[in-house]
Amino acid sequence: MKGRLHSIETFGAVDGPGIRTVFFMQGCPARCLYCHNPDSWSLDGGERDIEIPEILHWAERGRPYHGEKGGVTFSGGEPLLQGEFLAEAIRALHGIGIKSAIDTSGTYVDEYTEAAIAECDLVLLDIKHTDAERFEIIAGRKQDTLFQLIDLINKHDKHVWIRNVVVPDINDTEEDIEALNEFIKKVRHVDKVELLGYHTMAVNKYGKLGITYRLKGVPAMDGERLAQLRALVRVPSAE
Ligand code: SF4
Repeated sequence: MKGRLHSIETFGAVDGPGIRTVFFMQGCPARCLYCHNPDSWSLDGGERDIEIPEILHWAERGRPYHGEKGGVTFSGGEPLLQGEFLAEAIRALHGIGIKSAIDTSGTYVDEYTEAAIAECDLVLLDIKHTDAERFEIIAGRKQDTLFQLIDLINKHDKHVWIRNVVVPDINDTEEDIEALNEFIKKVRHVDKVELLGYHTMAVNKYGKLGITYRLKGVPAMDGERLAQLRALVRVPSAE
């Protein structure tokens, strides 16, 4: 079985606990306003195909750095677009004693999603927006898949890190964070909530790809304001 690969990060420190080998899978059904990887959208694009033995090879190379907490993360793009491959890869990684996380945007669910979620050890779940209409404006996808995914995550008792990109004038008010605090109560095991500040570093990529950047003129998220909003976040399992 083959997966389509965007790129590999051999020493990832931000996509899950500890040091991680991160496979960025190619293809995404969403078209987020602030996406910093528009080159990952097309399933036909990307670096190349990858097979399970090579996944194991890279994971083995990373093992000395993983320590107790680290492991492998499948990110994207949207890795659940390749759910069948993910489930098999994670199963094979468990076979050699390596844990895996899935970093998902919640914008895609199909018949393979449950197997992939059931296999993984942690889900990094992006909440684009708590409000259905705004979610659709940001991601270009309906919010329904997010709820389907949360149901599967709860059904299989998986632990979750919530992530939320904070964009000026889109979701940067105290009310937005309060709505997020309420929304994430739907997830049974939330271990961490990360607010990530919107930045403008990807604008040039759009130019090179000939794609219109729709947040032109929106400034990067102010660090001080972000810190204020972070202080308002409540992690349900810590309450
Ligand atoms: S889900 Fe992620 S990869 Fe897909 S468009 Fe949105 S930000 Fe980009």
